[in-house]
Amino acid sequence: MSSPRTARLVSAHDIGTHTRVLEFAVEAKDWEFTGGQYSIVHTGISIGGDKTAKRAYSFLSGDRDCNRFQIAVRRIGDGPGSNFMHGLAVGADLPFSGPWGKFVAEELPTDFPRSGSTLVLATDTGITAALGLVNSQKFLPFAARTDVVWLTESDEYFLSEGFVRARLLHCCRSFRVVHIPSVESSLRNIWFDDQQETILTPLLMEAAPSLSFLSGDGLLLARIRQTLLDRGHADPTIRVETFFNHPVRKAAANAVVT
Ligand SMILES: Cc1cc2nc3c(=O)[nH]c(=O)nc-3n(C[C@H](O)[C@H](O)[C@H](O)COP(=O)(O)OP(=O)(O)OC[C@H]3O[C@@H](n4cnc5c(N)ncnc54)[C@H](O)[C@@H]3O)c2cc1C
Repeated sequence: MSSPRTARLVSAHDIGTHTRVLEFAVEAKDWEFTGGQYSIVHTGISIGGDKTAKRAYSFLSGDRDCNRFQIAVRRIGDGPGSNFMHGLAVGADLPFSGPWGKFVAEELPTDFPRSGSTLVLATDTGITAALGLVNSQKFLPFAARTDVVWLTESDEYFLSEGFVRARLLHCCRSFRVVHIPSVESSLRNIWFDDQQETILTPLLMEAAPSLSFLSGDGLLLARIRQTLLDRGHADPTIRVETFFNHPVRKAAANAVVT
């Protein structure tokens, strides 16, 4: 459970043209989170009626010192949340709630084979949840048998490969970046169809995960999850954190339209 708190922005820096990494300090003694979880920031920006924009951001940093945490935000067009986070002044207090989410290395299925390998697959901005997860204290037992895969448009899209690689040091046994069509491109689905046999299936066979963590684009993740299920992986061994393109919401929206 979680009640609203305040975090102070203590530093911020830009990475490329779209991304800002923000570091916050929280003074509350009872505050803690587990890497892989996220916060919901209250921007106070009106988005019509009596609603204000509240947006989820995963903790990018590990959970050794919860009173300091980082998040990375990609600016999404003129979206209220991401632009607010890009404009937040150092020294400002930010109301937020959290921690939220179950994308964590605990509550493992009791029959999880302790010798099995772990796949952490992120698309796009979903790499923040992956980094938070693998840098969590609870993830330590998994590190030596974890393969991290990042599907991303380019080095300029969000965080650079070098940035991510540096944060993965000692947190996994392998890291691989696969470049994919942009989020906006209709080619993304076609890419999946084309590359499934040549890239994804071999990758999943190579990793042969007993446990999988998937984060990012809900449409791609749904297909990857299905591929894992089709290959005989049990549902509880696949954890998904969708950042955007939530399949359920899309399905509901389509149902209304038709
Ligand atoms: C659990 C969770 C964790 C998240 N963690 C992060 C994070 O660490 N860093 C981060 O930058 N964002 C993260 N997001 C996305 C974030 O919550 C906002 O959706 C995003 O910042 C856009 O908000 P906005 O108000 O600027 O734009 P909006 O007007 O709300 O968004 C416009 C549209 O863009 C979609 N969208 C959101 N993110 C992307 C993206 N990367 N690429 C393409 N479309 C997108 C939204 O779903 C929406 O349909 C996370 C989302 C969730 C659910």
